[in-house]
Amino acid sequence: MPVPLRSKATTQNFSNPLGGVRSSYEGPRVEISRDRTLSWWRRILPVIASHRFTFGTAIGLSFVSLVFQTLIPNLLNGAITNVLVRHSAALHVSVIEILLVGLAAGITGIISRQYVFQTAYNVEADLRTLIYEHLTWLSFSFYDRVQSGQLISRANSDIRSVQMYATFAPLIVVQCFIGVIAFGFMLSINLVLALIAMTVMPILYVVGIKMRRVMFPISWITQARLADVATIVDENINGVRVIKSFAQEEAEINRLADAAERVAWAYIKDAQIRGQWSPWVQNLPQLGLALVLTFGGLMVIHGHLGVGAILAFNAYLLMLQAPFMMLGQLVMMGQRAKASAERIFEVLDEKSEIQERPGAFDLDHVKGELDFKNVNFAYSNGAEILKDFTAHIEPGETVALVGRTGSGKSTVARLVTRFYDVSDGAIEIDGHNLRDLTLTSLRSNVGVVLDEPFLFSISIRDNIAYGQPEASMEAVMAAAVAANAHEFIAQLPEGYDTVVGERGYTLSGGQRQRIAIARTLLVNPPILILDDATSAIDVHVEAEIYRALRSLLKNRTTIVIAHRISTIALASRVLLLEDGRVVANGTHEQLLATTPLYSQVLAQTTSAEQ
Ligand code: ATP
Ligand code: MG
Repeated sequence: MPVPLRSKATTQNFSNPLGGVRSSYEGPRVEISRDRTLSWWRRILPVIASHRFTFGTAIGLSFVSLVFQTLIPNLLNGAITNVLVRHSAALHVSVIEILLVGLAAGITGIISRQYVFQTAYNVEADLRTLIYEHLTWLSFSFYDRVQSGQLISRANSDIRSVQMYATFAPLIVVQCFIGVIAFGFMLSINLVLALIAMTVMPILYVVGIKMRRVMFPISWITQARLADVATIVDENINGVRVIKSFAQEEAEINRLADAAERVAWAYIKDAQIRGQWSPWVQNLPQLGLALVLTFGGLMVIHGHLGVGAILAFNAYLLMLQAPFMMLGQLVMMGQRAKASAERIFEVLDEKSEIQERPGAFDLDHVKGELDFKNVNFAYSNGAEILKDFTAHIEPGETVALVGRTGSGKSTVARLVTRFYDVSDGAIEIDGHNLRDLTLTSLRSNVGVVLDEPFLFSISIRDNIAYGQPEASMEAVMAAAVAANAHEFIAQLPEGYDTVVGERGYTLSGGQRQRIAIARTLLVNPPILILDDATSAIDVHVEAEIYRALRSLLKNRTTIVIAHRISTIALASRVLLLEDGRVVANGTHEQLLATTPLYSQVLAQTTSAEQ
């Protein structure tokens, strides 16, 4: 059955390789500094600097607001002295004065807070985009190494702690600066009393630091334990079918309960420490007030000080208390932000192992000649999977790759698409080393259908058109027909508009595989790799798919990785893979006749199905 798919010429236009999806996205406007020798906050600085207008306004206004606030106690002092004691000024003038300054402090405070939060959440969004964007560029080997649960928690909590510090630390510094001004006012009112009032402040500072020091480890433990819970929940949701089929609900609930208990312990410990320390932090300033009242009172009695001054001192002391307490917090936040930033950098500094070399060119007008030249390959854990793997595949040829399970067949597919790089040797398409080609042009020309197809939670039409979002409905249907999927799709209540559930679970394994085949056929790659692509499809439907494919495969280089003899029969040649090498190469019949190992492998891998 001839199937009108898109012509090759249209798929070889790489001006917008990833289709319409990315064209509107221009990436984060900023980058962190790539210079690893810089301190962490210098590296983050460009992100914050990109919001300098809102941030500058926030800090400026918060400064103005605090200056207004520090004026109030002094005005109060003047009012009490001049209006109440000396009767030299009118009461209403002083009241209006104080109200106006208070109003100004309030308004500037509100606006500054708005700008602070605006900056904070924009910085957070920037960092998040930076990380997510970077994650999409990282190579498979990175994902082999890291746990996705950890990554997600890192992206969330670490970004938050860096953002908090980056935006609130400058505000605390402003507060401290205001503290200096307040102290100046106190000194100007009465030097001795100012010094007496300040005696508690160093103690407050030390207590604050001590408290943070005890709390710091416990807050780390809490974070780590929360991440554990997240991982367990994640596994329970994703693995719910396995859990239920092995009736392990009870065990999983216990595992979760244990983890939850450990979180609870950490939170309780945190509350205990807070409980032990906060009375000190809260009541030390009262001691300062008591000192002011005692010594200031004596001074007033002896006529050395006005009553208003005591009121002003009280107000200033309360004002000073905040920066002294926050200074301790600043230290702790700084430590945490540093650790968080370093973990964020760990991800951002991770280089994709698969790099386009400078001057890489687009693979164009592909004939489809595929050459494996003495390829050696090991995954990052070290075991050699391919050793001196050598093979030559002619343009338009269909070759079956056969081997025991774990022999490295899928690995070969991953190398041709450059999901991993060969350790030694080279893979060439039309005589071009893969390393010389741009990645998008390579991957648009090599289509792989995996045995475990991932479908997105979007309509079937959009799933098939994933690689070619602008494809016409006719093209999508033609691809579905070729993959023998059209019939069952047409029978669904909403046809091509049916949204498949998370990971396409509402479809059977075979149906998902057929959609995945259609998805790759639509892109119409000149080189096609079918990795166990029909393993879940029953033999009769598979035969139909291959009947349809046969005409499609005629003009393209195809590697089929398969266990079924019916699939292998499609190929004009069989490569037998054993110990990372091609140990036999010939037609199915030739290998059957000459290579006992081939019969053995076939017997092993096909016994279940024949
Ligand atoms: P099957 O027929 O079961 O699909 P296969 O021939 O496709 O097997 P591969 O998936 O290529 O086998 O795996 C070859 C070997 O490489 C196996 O021993 C496997 O354990 C190992 N391997 C596969 N993927 C990775 C990875 N990401 N990291 C480390 N080792 C891996
Ligand atoms: Mg495999």
